[in-house]
Amino acid sequence: MIYLFIAALLLALLLGARLLVRQNRLLEQLRGAIQFQQPLLKSEGSADHLPEWPGLTEDVNRLITENATLRQQRSDQLTQLEATLGNLREAVLIVDEANYIHLANRALREIFPASRDLVNLRLELIVRSAAFLDYVRATRTGQPLPRQEFEITDGASSTWIEASGAPIPSPDGKTQWALFVIHDMTQQRILERMRRDFVANASHELRTPLSVIKGYVETLVDGHATMSDDERAKFLATIQRHSDRLNAIIADLLTLSRLESVTPGVNFEAIDLRAFLLALVDDTAQRPNAKRHALASRLDPDLGEISGNAEKLTQLFGNLLDNAVKYCPAGANIVVEARPLAATGEIEVAVRDTGPGIPAADLPHIFERFYRVEKGRSRESGGTGLGLSIVKHIAQLHGGRVWAESEVGQGTAIFVRLPLASAGKAAKPDSR
Ligand code: ADP
Repeated sequence: MIYLFIAALLLALLLGARLLVRQNRLLEQLRGAIQFQQPLLKSEGSADHLPEWPGLTEDVNRLITENATLRQQRSDQLTQLEATLGNLREAVLIVDEANYIHLANRALREIFPASRDLVNLRLELIVRSAAFLDYVRATRTGQPLPRQEFEITDGASSTWIEASGAPIPSPDGKTQWALFVIHDMTQQRILERMRRDFVANASHELRTPLSVIKGYVETLVDGHATMSDDERAKFLATIQRHSDRLNAIIADLLTLSRLESVTPGVNFEAIDLRAFLLALVDDTAQRPNAKRHALASRLDPDLGEISGNAEKLTQLFGNLLDNAVKYCPAGANIVVEARPLAATGEIEVAVRDTGPGIPAADLPHIFERFYRVEKGRSRESGGTGLGLSIVKHIAQLHGGRVWAESEVGQGTAIFVRLPLASAGKAAKPDSR
């Protein structure tokens, strides 16, 4: 009897243990389904082992399906948002609570081209500005902040951005993210700086001869009665020299301003560049100050025609020849070369001299307004510092470009490339 009881107890224990193992397995399956968001199959498990199992399976499967639908909707919305923002001219940025970038549209990638895809990078790596990072932090906390401008420096270059932001809840609603609309202000700031520099430079250039004239006139007014004739003549000659200078600066400034503003009014005609340059070299060689040098031309016989404005081109090549004549010590060789470039449909003209040359550090700047390599020498020879700037503008007006090559002590060559008449197309000059 007792054996029977023990056997029944063992059987009951065994059955109980098996049930526990199966229930455990079912719970494991349930955990796996939730973890991997995979609905449970009806055949998985059985109601025999856990009466609530079918109901539980149904509820869990419903939750998993709903969750999947929500996630899909969210990803569709993000894709749609990215597609919409991608075409916006304004740059849009979304960062999370740890400053990881979650959305960066095309306009933003154009401002910060360091990396092709900014998403998942930390903001600190892209925008190196403590002030902007503070602004991001403050925006996330919900502080109402006005639109603000930031200068972001990277080595020698600066980018200016104007940002306005708003806090947004993270998709799971647990943390606070931030969204920013950013405008690239760099071009505007560079232009403003150039304009400021230009006004400062122009005022300075005009003030120098003016103050000399003023000083001499005052002395003449006070002392003309007691002055010797010689002294008075010397004073008047100085006044004349400085008023000529004022005149030259104002004439060059007017030329530049006309080149910038009335571009569409310029008449273009077919110009045989070979005949044009030959005549110009001849005219220059006749001038008294050019007689101390040897002027020559090496022009390809089949140079071809360009579509240009003769008056402006005379000014362009005249300024280059003037500089060569002006800056070379007596006995220099000055050559005007020209050749057609079949591959690019252009004509390349070079004005070469064997003068003092231009140091490498100055070369990139000589086409800027008022830039002079040696200030004293340029002023002495009547230079305004605007000649090469005018040259650059006229070349651009003809759809061409200019550059310089030089070696100190060896000489200078200024190159001008202009499109052949068939390929000619005028471009808008920039404002430097
Ligand atoms: P500027 O009116 O002073 O001649 P430019 O704009 O024509 O001004 O030239 C800018 C500067 O470049 C000049 O001041 C001069 O120092 C330098 N430069 C131009 N052409 C030559 C040249 N052929 N040889 C040496 N220096 C030159």
